[in-house]
Amino acid sequence: MADPPTARVDGDLAGRLRTSGLRVTASRLAVLEAVAEHPHSDAERIAGAARRRLGSLSTQAVYNNLHALNGAGLLRRIEPSGGPARYETRVGDNHHHVVCRTCAATADVDCARNLAPCLDASDTHGFAIDEAEVTYWGICPSCQTTSIPPD
Ligand SMILES: [Zn+2]
Ligand SMILES: [Zn+2]
Repeated sequence: MADPPTARVDGDLAGRLRTSGLRVTASRLAVLEAVAEHPHSDAERIAGAARRRLGSLSTQAVYNNLHALNGAGLLRRIEPSGGPARYETRVGDNHHHVVCRTCAATADVDCARNLAPCLDASDTHGFAIDEAEVTYWGICPSCQTTSIPPD
């Protein structure tokens, strides 16, 4: 599973939404809550969770809200190669991700140094580097057990 077992929804998501300067709407809050409950989910899964809260919500509205929330800094968008973009409410730190090659389960990996960028580029090419985004790829524990071929 991609989610920690006790994914806790921040009780003050509406407050965060309000202070971000975005208008608080039922669909926007539902999308934000869905991401908080299911970190690292793609838009399709977020849409499903938001619809369970609201009853109905168009796919376009989900994308619009994800875009607005991301633009306001309330959501972080990650794009592991070969898959759709995923979203999470853990923003503002330089954490990384480990992704399962088999089932795409994703987990957070804290920054090795706690300060961006946590890796020194071997050649900066003169750039002022402020972030290093690392994706660790591997096989998750559950895929490791299921991928053992039967004897
Ligand atoms: Zn897996
Ligand atoms: Zn994350």
